[in-house]
Amino acid sequence: MADVVAAALAASIARPGTAYASIEQAKEAAATLAATGACALCVLRFLRVPLGPAYQDDAAAAIREALGIAASDDPAPVCPACLGTLGPDVARRAAAEFKSQCYDTTAVTVAVELPKSVYVRHRAMQLLCTAAPAAPAIDVKDAVRHVVLQRLAAECDVVAAIDGEMRIEITFAHAETADDHQFLAKRPHGPGAGDTKSAIVAALAACSDDEFRARFPCPPPAPASAAVVSSMVLRRASVFVGGRYLKLERNISQTPFIVEGRRVTEHSVAEIIGEPLMALTRSDSYNLVGSGREDADVRMLGDGRPFYIECINPRTTQVSPAQIEAVEAALRERGSPVQVRRLQMVTAADTSIIKDGEENKSKRYCALVWIARPLTAEQLAEINAIGREGLLLQQKTPVRVLQRRAALTRPRRILALAVEPIAGRFYRAHIESEAGTYIKEFVHGDLGRTVPSLAGLAGATADILELDVENVALDFPPTPTPAPAAAPAAR
Ligand SMILES: [Zn+2]
Repeated sequence: MADVVAAALAASIARPGTAYASIEQAKEAAATLAATGACALCVLRFLRVPLGPAYQDDAAAAIREALGIAASDDPAPVCPACLGTLGPDVARRAAAEFKSQCYDTTAVTVAVELPKSVYVRHRAMQLLCTAAPAAPAIDVKDAVRHVVLQRLAAECDVVAAIDGEMRIEITFAHAETADDHQFLAKRPHGPGAGDTKSAIVAALAACSDDEFRARFPCPPPAPASAAVVSSMVLRRASVFVGGRYLKLERNISQTPFIVEGRRVTEHSVAEIIGEPLMALTRSDSYNLVGSGREDADVRMLGDGRPFYIECINPRTTQVSPAQIEAVEAALRERGSPVQVRRLQMVTAADTSIIKDGEENKSKRYCALVWIARPLTAEQLAEINAIGREGLLLQQKTPVRVLQRRAALTRPRRILALAVEPIAGRFYRAHIESEAGTYIKEFVHGDLGRTVPSLAGLAGATADILELDVENVALDFPPTPTPAPAAAPAAR
Protein backbone atom coordinates (compact mmCIF):
# COMPACT_ATOMS: atom_id res chain seq x y z
CA MET A 1 0.00 0.00 0.00
CA ALA A 2 2.88 2.36 0.79
CA ASP A 3 4.01 1.81 -2.83
CA VAL A 4 0.62 2.90 -4.09
CA VAL A 5 0.85 6.09 -2.04
CA ALA A 6 4.41 6.78 -3.14
CA ALA A 7 3.43 6.25 -6.78
CA ALA A 8 0.42 8.57 -6.41
CA LEU A 9 2.58 11.26 -4.84
CA ALA A 10 5.24 10.91 -7.54
CA ALA A 11 2.60 11.06 -10.27
CA SER A 12 1.01 14.15 -8.80
CA ILE A 13 4.36 15.90 -8.61
CA ALA A 14 5.19 14.98 -12.20
CA ARG A 15 2.02 16.68 -13.47
CA PRO A 16 2.42 20.13 -15.05
CA GLY A 17 1.34 23.08 -12.90
CA THR A 18 1.63 20.96 -9.80
CA ALA A 19 1.88 22.16 -6.25
CA TYR A 20 5.26 20.83 -5.23
CA ALA A 21 8.47 20.79 -7.24
CA SER A 22 9.96 17.70 -5.63
CA ILE A 23 9.23 14.76 -3.38
CA GLU A 24 11.42 16.40 -0.73
CA GLN A 25 9.40 19.58 -0.82
CA ALA A 26 6.16 17.60 -0.60
CA LYS A 27 7.47 15.59 2.34
CA GLU A 28 8.43 18.80 4.09
CA ALA A 29 4.87 20.07 3.63
CA ALA A 30 3.54 16.71 4.79
CA ALA A 31 5.46 17.08 8.04
CA THR A 32 3.99 20.58 8.57
CA LEU A 33 0.51 19.27 7.93
CA ALA A 34 0.95 16.22 10.14
CA ALA A 35 2.14 18.44 12.98
CA THR A 36 -1.28 20.11 13.07
CA GLY A 37 -2.82 16.73 13.91
CA ALA A 38 -4.26 16.30 10.41
CA CYS A 39 -5.19 12.73 9.50
CA ALA A 40 -3.26 10.91 6.78
CA LEU A 41 -5.96 11.41 4.16
CA CYS A 42 -6.13 15.12 4.89
CA VAL A 43 -2.35 15.33 4.48
CA LEU A 44 -2.76 13.81 1.02
CA ARG A 45 -5.55 16.25 0.24
CA PHE A 46 -3.48 19.28 1.12
CA LEU A 47 -0.51 17.89 -0.78
CA ARG A 48 -2.88 18.03 -3.76
CA VAL A 49 -2.57 14.33 -4.53
CA PRO A 50 -5.58 13.65 -6.78
CA LEU A 51 -8.23 11.25 -5.51
CA GLY A 52 -7.32 7.70 -6.42
CA PRO A 53 -6.35 4.36 -4.92
CA ALA A 54 -4.07 6.02 -2.34
CA TYR A 55 -7.17 7.31 -0.55
CA GLN A 56 -8.29 4.31 1.46
CA ASP A 57 -9.91 4.56 4.84
CA ASP A 58 -7.50 1.97 6.26
CA ALA A 59 -4.32 3.30 4.61
CA ALA A 60 -3.27 5.80 7.29
CA ALA A 61 -0.15 3.89 8.33
CA ALA A 62 0.98 3.34 4.73
CA ILE A 63 0.44 6.99 3.85
CA ARG A 64 2.43 8.13 6.85
CA GLU A 65 5.20 5.73 5.95
CA ALA A 66 5.30 6.81 2.31
CA LEU A 67 5.39 10.47 3.26
CA GLY A 68 8.06 9.92 5.88
CA ILE A 69 5.88 11.30 8.65
CA ALA A 70 7.67 10.52 11.88
CA ALA A 71 6.01 8.23 14.37
CA SER A 72 6.40 10.93 17.03
CA ASP A 73 4.00 13.10 15.02
CA ASP A 74 1.09 10.88 15.95
CA PRO A 75 -2.09 12.49 14.72
CA ALA A 76 -4.46 14.10 17.18
CA PRO A 77 -7.41 11.91 18.15
CA VAL A 78 -9.59 14.03 15.91
CA CYS A 79 -8.36 15.59 12.67
CA PRO A 80 -8.80 19.39 12.82
CA ALA A 81 -9.41 19.57 9.07
CA CYS A 82 -12.00 16.89 8.30
CA LEU A 83 -13.20 16.49 11.92
CA GLY A 84 -12.96 12.72 11.52
CA THR A 85 -15.33 12.54 8.56
CA LEU A 86 -12.58 10.79 6.58
CA GLY A 87 -12.16 8.16 9.27
CA PRO A 88 -12.85 4.49 8.54
CA ASP A 89 -16.04 4.18 10.56
CA VAL A 90 -18.21 6.05 8.11
CA ALA A 91 -17.30 4.04 5.01
CA ARG A 92 -17.59 0.76 6.92
CA ARG A 93 -20.97 1.68 8.26
CA ALA A 94 -22.19 2.60 4.77
CA ALA A 95 -20.93 -0.72 3.38
CA ALA A 96 -22.49 -2.71 6.21
CA GLU A 97 -25.80 -0.95 5.78
CA PHE A 98 -25.78 -1.50 2.03
CA LYS A 99 -24.96 -5.17 2.41
CA SER A 100 -27.54 -5.82 5.11
CA GLN A 101 -30.31 -4.50 2.91
CA CYS A 102 -29.25 -6.49 -0.17
CA TYR A 103 -30.04 -3.93 -2.84
CA ASP A 104 -29.77 -5.54 -6.28
CA THR A 105 -27.93 -2.62 -7.82
CA THR A 106 -24.31 -1.92 -8.60
CA ALA A 107 -24.53 1.79 -9.42
CA VAL A 108 -24.46 4.00 -6.38
CA THR A 109 -24.32 7.74 -5.87
CA VAL A 110 -22.95 8.91 -2.56
CA ALA A 111 -24.08 12.31 -1.32
CA VAL A 112 -22.39 13.89 1.68
CA GLU A 113 -23.34 16.82 3.83
CA LEU A 114 -20.54 17.98 6.09
CA PRO A 115 -20.46 20.25 9.12
CA LYS A 116 -20.06 23.78 7.77
CA SER A 117 -17.00 24.36 9.94
CA VAL A 118 -15.11 21.99 7.64
CA TYR A 119 -15.09 24.68 4.94
CA VAL A 120 -13.67 27.29 7.30
CA ARG A 121 -11.01 24.85 8.46
CA HIS A 122 -10.20 23.92 4.89
CA ARG A 123 -9.23 27.54 4.26
CA ALA A 124 -7.07 27.62 7.39
CA MET A 125 -5.24 24.44 6.36
CA GLN A 126 -4.70 25.74 2.83
CA LEU A 127 -2.97 28.79 4.23
CA LEU A 128 -0.47 26.53 5.99
CA CYS A 129 0.74 25.19 2.65
CA THR A 130 1.84 28.49 1.20
CA ALA A 131 4.22 26.76 -1.18
CA ALA A 132 1.23 25.62 -3.17
CA PRO A 133 -1.13 28.53 -3.65
CA ALA A 134 -1.78 27.76 -7.31
CA ALA A 135 -3.41 24.37 -7.04
CA PRO A 136 -6.46 24.04 -4.80
CA ALA A 137 -6.43 21.26 -2.22
CA ILE A 138 -8.71 18.29 -2.78
CA ASP A 139 -12.22 19.08 -1.59
CA VAL A 140 -13.09 17.27 1.62
CA LYS A 141 -16.56 16.36 0.44
CA ASP A 142 -15.16 14.76 -2.70
CA ALA A 143 -12.67 12.87 -0.53
CA VAL A 144 -15.34 11.53 1.83
CA ARG A 145 -17.42 10.42 -1.13
CA HIS A 146 -14.41 8.77 -2.69
CA VAL A 147 -13.45 6.89 0.46
CA VAL A 148 -16.99 5.61 0.96
CA LEU A 149 -17.21 4.49 -2.66
CA GLN A 150 -13.81 2.75 -2.46
CA ARG A 151 -15.06 0.74 0.48
CA LEU A 152 -18.37 -0.03 -1.23
CA ALA A 153 -16.48 -1.13 -4.34
CA ALA A 154 -14.24 -3.41 -2.31
CA GLU A 155 -16.93 -4.96 -0.13
CA CYS A 156 -20.13 -4.71 -2.14
CA ASP A 157 -18.93 -4.74 -5.74
CA VAL A 158 -20.58 -1.45 -6.66
CA VAL A 159 -19.42 1.34 -8.94
CA ALA A 160 -19.84 5.05 -8.56
CA ALA A 161 -22.61 6.62 -10.60
CA ILE A 162 -23.02 10.32 -11.23
CA ASP A 163 -26.76 10.24 -10.87
CA GLY A 164 -27.37 6.65 -9.86
CA GLU A 165 -30.78 5.16 -9.17
CA MET A 166 -29.38 4.34 -5.73
CA ARG A 167 -28.24 7.07 -3.37
CA ILE A 168 -26.53 6.88 -0.04
CA GLU A 169 -26.99 10.20 1.73
CA ILE A 170 -24.69 10.79 4.67
CA THR A 171 -25.14 13.84 6.87
CA PHE A 172 -22.64 14.81 9.53
CA ALA A 173 -23.04 17.12 12.49
CA HIS A 174 -20.45 18.61 14.80
CA ALA A 175 -21.81 20.77 17.61
CA GLU A 176 -18.38 21.64 18.96
CA THR A 177 -17.37 23.66 15.88
CA ALA A 178 -20.83 24.86 14.89
CA ASP A 179 -19.84 28.48 15.52
CA ASP A 180 -16.55 28.39 13.58
CA HIS A 181 -17.96 30.50 10.76
CA GLN A 182 -19.50 33.15 13.00
CA PHE A 183 -16.58 35.55 12.52
CA LEU A 184 -17.68 35.81 8.89
CA ALA A 185 -21.03 37.19 10.01
CA LYS A 186 -19.30 40.30 11.32
CA ARG A 187 -18.07 41.12 7.84
CA PRO A 188 -20.22 43.26 5.54
CA HIS A 189 -22.55 40.93 3.59
CA GLY A 190 -21.23 37.98 5.58
CA PRO A 191 -23.46 35.00 6.31
CA GLY A 192 -25.39 34.92 9.56
CA ALA A 193 -25.64 32.12 12.08
CA GLY A 194 -26.83 28.83 10.64
CA ASP A 195 -26.22 30.02 7.11
CA THR A 196 -25.93 27.79 4.10
CA LYS A 197 -22.76 26.19 2.88
CA SER A 198 -22.78 28.28 -0.29
CA ALA A 199 -23.10 31.52 1.72
CA ILE A 200 -20.16 30.47 3.88
CA VAL A 201 -18.04 29.47 0.90
CA ALA A 202 -18.85 32.78 -0.82
CA ALA A 203 -17.99 34.75 2.32
CA LEU A 204 -14.71 32.84 2.64
CA ALA A 205 -13.87 33.64 -0.97
CA ALA A 206 -14.47 37.33 -0.29
CA CYS A 207 -12.17 37.25 2.74
CA SER A 208 -8.49 38.03 2.05
CA ASP A 209 -5.78 35.73 3.39
CA ASP A 210 -4.56 38.37 5.82
CA GLU A 211 -8.03 39.04 7.14
CA PHE A 212 -8.70 35.32 7.51
CA ARG A 213 -5.47 34.81 9.44
CA ALA A 214 -6.34 37.68 11.72
CA ARG A 215 -9.75 36.22 12.57
CA PHE A 216 -9.30 32.45 12.58
CA PRO A 217 -6.46 30.33 13.98
CA CYS A 218 -4.16 28.74 11.41
CA PRO A 219 -3.74 25.84 11.89
CA PRO A 220 -7.22 25.27 13.25
CA PRO A 221 -7.41 23.84 16.77
CA ALA A 222 -7.97 20.09 17.12
CA PRO A 223 -11.47 19.40 18.44
CA ALA A 224 -12.11 17.10 21.40
CA SER A 225 -14.77 15.08 19.63
CA ALA A 226 -15.26 13.81 16.09
CA ALA A 227 -18.18 14.75 13.87
CA VAL A 228 -21.06 12.31 14.13
CA VAL A 229 -23.18 10.83 11.38
CA SER A 230 -26.54 12.39 12.12
CA SER A 231 -28.24 10.44 9.37
CA MET A 232 -27.39 7.83 6.79
CA VAL A 233 -30.19 7.24 4.32
CA LEU A 234 -30.13 4.60 1.60
CA ARG A 235 -32.63 5.46 -1.08
CA ARG A 236 -33.39 3.68 -4.32
CA ALA A 237 -35.42 5.22 -7.14
CA SER A 238 -38.99 3.92 -7.19
CA VAL A 239 -40.12 1.21 -9.57
CA PHE A 240 -43.60 1.13 -11.02
CA VAL A 241 -45.97 -1.75 -11.66
CA GLY A 242 -48.95 -1.01 -13.86
CA GLY A 243 -52.13 -2.84 -14.72
CA ARG A 244 -55.91 -2.69 -14.56
CA TYR A 245 -57.91 -3.63 -11.51
CA LEU A 246 -61.33 -5.10 -11.13
CA LYS A 247 -63.34 -4.67 -7.98
CA LEU A 248 -65.88 -7.44 -7.86
CA GLU A 249 -67.46 -6.55 -4.51
CA ARG A 250 -68.76 -3.37 -2.96
CA ASN A 251 -67.49 -1.61 0.14
CA ILE A 252 -63.87 -1.62 -0.86
CA SER A 253 -62.21 1.77 -1.09
CA GLN A 254 -59.43 2.54 -3.55
CA THR A 255 -57.01 3.55 -0.79
CA PRO A 256 -57.36 2.84 2.95
CA PHE A 257 -60.44 4.78 4.09
CA ILE A 258 -59.77 5.91 7.63
CA VAL A 259 -61.78 8.53 9.50
CA GLU A 260 -60.61 9.69 12.91
CA GLY A 261 -58.35 6.70 13.29
CA ARG A 262 -61.06 4.15 12.44
CA ARG A 263 -61.27 2.16 9.23
CA VAL A 264 -64.48 2.76 7.31
CA THR A 265 -63.88 -0.05 4.81
CA GLU A 266 -62.15 -3.25 5.76
CA HIS A 267 -60.22 -3.59 2.51
CA SER A 268 -58.72 -1.30 -0.07
CA VAL A 269 -57.64 -1.89 -3.64
CA ALA A 270 -54.26 -0.35 -2.83
CA GLU A 271 -53.53 -2.81 -0.02
CA ILE A 272 -54.74 -5.90 -1.86
CA ILE A 273 -52.48 -5.18 -4.84
CA GLY A 274 -49.75 -3.18 -3.14
CA GLU A 275 -48.84 -5.55 -0.30
CA PRO A 276 -47.68 -8.47 -2.51
CA LEU A 277 -45.81 -6.06 -4.80
CA MET A 278 -44.13 -4.42 -1.82
CA ALA A 279 -43.02 -7.87 -0.66
CA LEU A 280 -41.82 -8.84 -4.13
CA THR A 281 -39.69 -5.72 -4.58
CA ARG A 282 -38.84 -5.51 -0.86
CA SER A 283 -39.87 -1.88 -0.78
CA ASP A 284 -40.40 0.42 2.19
CA SER A 285 -43.91 1.35 1.13
CA TYR A 286 -46.13 1.78 -1.91
CA ASN A 287 -48.57 4.17 -3.40
CA LEU A 288 -51.48 3.42 -5.73
CA VAL A 289 -52.40 5.92 -8.44
CA GLY A 290 -55.54 5.07 -10.37
CA SER A 291 -56.95 6.60 -13.50
CA GLY A 292 -59.69 8.23 -11.45
CA ARG A 293 -61.49 6.37 -8.68
CA GLU A 294 -64.88 4.87 -8.00
CA ASP A 295 -66.68 5.22 -4.69
CA ALA A 296 -66.26 2.40 -2.19
CA ASP A 297 -69.78 1.12 -2.90
CA VAL A 298 -69.24 1.03 -6.67
CA ARG A 299 -67.90 -2.07 -8.39
CA MET A 300 -65.26 -1.86 -11.11
CA LEU A 301 -65.95 -4.42 -13.80
CA GLY A 302 -65.21 -4.96 -17.50
CA ASP A 303 -61.58 -4.44 -18.42
CA GLY A 304 -60.82 -2.86 -15.09
CA ARG A 305 -59.44 0.53 -14.17
CA PRO A 306 -55.89 1.48 -15.19
CA PHE A 307 -53.58 2.05 -12.27
CA TYR A 308 -49.98 1.84 -11.23
CA ILE A 309 -48.32 1.07 -7.94
CA GLU A 310 -45.20 3.00 -7.05
CA CYS A 311 -42.88 0.79 -5.00
CA ILE A 312 -40.83 3.12 -2.83
CA ASN A 313 -37.18 2.40 -2.06
CA PRO A 314 -37.17 -1.12 -3.55
CA ARG A 315 -34.31 -3.47 -2.67
CA THR A 316 -35.16 -5.76 -5.59
CA THR A 317 -35.93 -4.43 -9.04
CA GLN A 318 -34.76 -7.39 -11.11
CA VAL A 319 -38.25 -8.83 -11.20
CA SER A 320 -39.18 -11.29 -13.94
CA PRO A 321 -42.48 -11.19 -15.86
CA ALA A 322 -43.21 -14.60 -14.34
CA GLN A 323 -42.95 -13.20 -10.82
CA ILE A 324 -45.32 -10.37 -11.68
CA GLU A 325 -47.73 -12.84 -13.26
CA ALA A 326 -47.62 -14.89 -10.09
CA VAL A 327 -48.98 -11.91 -8.13
CA GLU A 328 -51.85 -11.62 -10.61
CA ALA A 329 -52.50 -15.37 -10.47
CA ALA A 330 -52.45 -15.48 -6.67
CA LEU A 331 -55.25 -12.91 -6.45
CA ARG A 332 -57.25 -14.88 -8.99
CA GLU A 333 -56.70 -18.22 -7.33
CA ARG A 334 -57.69 -17.13 -3.86
CA GLY A 335 -60.84 -15.48 -5.22
CA SER A 336 -59.84 -12.04 -4.05
CA PRO A 337 -62.56 -9.38 -4.45
CA VAL A 338 -59.91 -7.31 -6.22
CA GLN A 339 -58.35 -8.80 -9.32
CA VAL A 340 -55.72 -7.44 -11.66
CA ARG A 341 -55.17 -7.75 -15.40
CA ARG A 342 -52.10 -7.05 -17.54
CA LEU A 343 -49.93 -6.52 -14.50
CA GLN A 344 -46.42 -5.52 -15.62
CA MET A 345 -43.42 -3.39 -14.80
CA VAL A 346 -43.81 0.05 -16.36
CA THR A 347 -41.39 2.94 -16.62
CA ALA A 348 -41.66 6.22 -14.78
CA ALA A 349 -42.45 7.81 -18.16
CA ASP A 350 -45.35 5.37 -18.70
CA THR A 351 -47.01 6.59 -15.51
CA SER A 352 -47.70 9.93 -17.19
CA ILE A 353 -50.30 8.12 -19.36
CA ILE A 354 -52.39 7.77 -16.20
CA LYS A 355 -51.87 11.35 -15.10
CA ASP A 356 -52.48 12.85 -18.56
CA GLY A 357 -55.41 10.55 -19.32
CA GLU A 358 -57.30 11.85 -16.31
CA GLU A 359 -58.86 14.71 -18.24
CA ASN A 360 -60.01 13.12 -21.45
CA LYS A 361 -60.98 9.50 -20.95
CA SER A 362 -64.62 8.45 -21.08
CA LYS A 363 -66.28 5.86 -18.84
CA ARG A 364 -69.18 3.48 -19.14
CA TYR A 365 -71.46 2.68 -16.21
CA CYS A 366 -74.34 0.43 -15.41
CA ALA A 367 -76.71 1.61 -12.67
CA LEU A 368 -79.64 -0.01 -10.87
CA VAL A 369 -82.19 2.79 -10.58
CA TRP A 370 -85.46 3.17 -8.68
CA ILE A 371 -87.98 5.66 -9.99
CA ALA A 372 -90.89 6.65 -7.73
CA ARG A 373 -93.49 6.61 -10.50
CA PRO A 374 -93.11 3.93 -13.19
CA LEU A 375 -92.34 5.34 -16.63
CA THR A 376 -94.87 5.02 -19.41
CA ALA A 377 -93.72 3.43 -22.68
CA GLU A 378 -93.77 6.91 -24.27
CA GLN A 379 -91.65 8.39 -21.49
CA LEU A 380 -89.14 5.57 -21.78
CA ALA A 381 -88.92 6.00 -25.57
CA GLU A 382 -88.46 9.74 -25.17
CA ILE A 383 -85.71 9.39 -22.55
CA ASN A 384 -83.86 6.88 -24.73
CA ALA A 385 -84.20 9.13 -27.79
CA ILE A 386 -82.63 11.98 -25.81
CA GLY A 387 -80.07 9.54 -24.45
CA ARG A 388 -78.93 8.50 -27.93
CA GLU A 389 -78.13 12.14 -28.74
CA GLY A 390 -76.26 12.68 -25.51
CA LEU A 391 -76.83 15.39 -22.91
CA LEU A 392 -74.89 18.39 -21.73
CA LEU A 393 -75.11 18.72 -17.95
CA GLN A 394 -74.50 21.69 -15.72
CA GLN A 395 -73.22 20.00 -12.64
CA LYS A 396 -72.68 21.86 -9.38
CA THR A 397 -70.21 20.29 -6.96
CA PRO A 398 -72.24 17.53 -5.24
CA VAL A 399 -73.44 18.10 -1.71
CA ARG A 400 -71.59 14.96 -0.57
CA VAL A 401 -68.18 16.25 -1.65
CA LEU A 402 -68.67 19.97 -0.92
CA GLN A 403 -66.53 19.68 2.20
CA ARG A 404 -63.41 18.79 0.24
CA ARG A 405 -64.00 20.29 -3.23
CA ALA A 406 -64.56 23.86 -4.33
CA ALA A 407 -68.16 24.79 -5.10
CA LEU A 408 -68.25 25.22 -8.88
CA THR A 409 -70.62 24.55 -11.74
CA ARG A 410 -69.00 22.35 -14.38
CA PRO A 411 -70.36 21.44 -17.80
CA ARG A 412 -70.17 17.66 -18.26
CA ARG A 413 -71.28 15.52 -21.15
CA ILE A 414 -73.33 12.33 -21.03
CA LEU A 415 -72.26 10.67 -24.26
CA ALA A 416 -74.99 8.05 -24.22
CA LEU A 417 -77.86 7.00 -21.97
CA ALA A 418 -80.06 3.93 -22.35
CA VAL A 419 -82.70 2.94 -19.80
CA GLU A 420 -84.32 -0.49 -19.73
CA PRO A 421 -87.10 -1.61 -17.40
CA ILE A 422 -86.45 -4.52 -15.05
CA ALA A 423 -89.66 -4.81 -13.04
CA GLY A 424 -92.02 -2.37 -11.33
CA ARG A 425 -90.13 0.75 -10.43
CA PHE A 426 -86.69 -0.73 -11.07
CA TYR A 427 -84.66 0.14 -14.13
CA ARG A 428 -81.22 -0.47 -15.46
CA ALA A 429 -79.45 2.58 -16.85
CA HIS A 430 -76.44 2.28 -19.15
CA ILE A 431 -74.50 5.53 -19.08
CA GLU A 432 -71.42 6.62 -20.94
CA SER A 433 -69.91 9.89 -19.77
CA GLU A 434 -66.84 12.02 -20.06
CA ALA A 435 -64.28 12.10 -17.26
CA GLY A 436 -65.24 13.88 -14.09
CA THR A 437 -69.01 13.41 -14.33
CA TYR A 438 -70.78 12.61 -11.07
CA ILE A 439 -73.04 9.73 -12.09
CA LYS A 440 -75.04 9.33 -8.89
CA GLU A 441 -75.94 13.01 -9.07
CA PHE A 442 -76.91 12.71 -12.72
CA VAL A 443 -79.41 10.01 -11.71
CA HIS A 444 -81.06 11.64 -8.69
CA GLY A 445 -80.42 15.29 -9.57
CA ASP A 446 -78.72 16.22 -6.29
CA LEU A 447 -81.52 18.55 -5.11
CA GLY A 448 -81.50 20.35 -8.44
CA ARG A 449 -77.74 20.83 -8.47
CA THR A 450 -77.29 18.65 -11.60
CA VAL A 451 -79.42 19.75 -14.58
CA PRO A 452 -80.70 17.89 -16.51
CA SER A 453 -80.90 14.65 -14.56
CA LEU A 454 -82.58 11.29 -15.03
CA ALA A 455 -85.03 12.18 -12.26
CA GLY A 456 -85.84 15.39 -14.11
CA LEU A 457 -86.38 13.55 -17.40
CA ALA A 458 -88.60 11.02 -15.63
CA GLY A 459 -90.54 13.75 -13.85
CA ALA A 460 -90.28 11.79 -10.60
CA THR A 461 -87.97 11.13 -7.72
CA ALA A 462 -85.21 8.74 -8.76
CA ASP A 463 -82.51 7.03 -6.76
CA ILE A 464 -79.49 4.96 -7.58
CA LEU A 465 -79.29 1.63 -5.77
CA GLU A 466 -76.17 0.11 -7.29
CA LEU A 467 -73.50 1.37 -9.62
CA ASP A 468 -70.86 -0.48 -11.59
CA VAL A 469 -68.13 0.96 -13.76
CA GLU A 470 -67.95 -1.17 -16.89
CA ASN A 471 -65.21 0.50 -18.86
CA VAL A 472 -62.52 3.14 -18.47
CA ALA A 473 -61.43 4.11 -21.96
CA LEU A 474 -57.72 4.54 -21.48
CA ASP A 475 -55.09 2.32 -23.09
CA PHE A 476 -52.88 1.39 -20.20
CA PRO A 477 -50.60 -0.28 -19.34
CA PRO A 478 -48.51 -0.44 -22.50
CA THR A 479 -49.00 -3.80 -24.18
CA PRO A 480 -46.53 -6.31 -22.79
CA THR A 481 -43.31 -6.63 -24.72
CA PRO A 482 -40.83 -9.52 -24.32
CA ALA A 483 -38.78 -8.00 -21.55
CA PRO A 484 -40.46 -5.01 -19.93
CA ALA A 485 -40.00 -6.39 -16.45
CA ALA A 486 -36.24 -6.02 -16.50
CA ALA A 487 -35.86 -2.95 -14.37
CA PRO A 488 -33.42 -0.32 -15.56
CA ALA A 489 -30.25 -2.16 -14.80
CA ALA A 490 -27.16 -0.67 -13.33
CA ARG A 491 -25.57 1.94 -15.50
ZN1 LIG B 1 -8.75 14.58 8.21
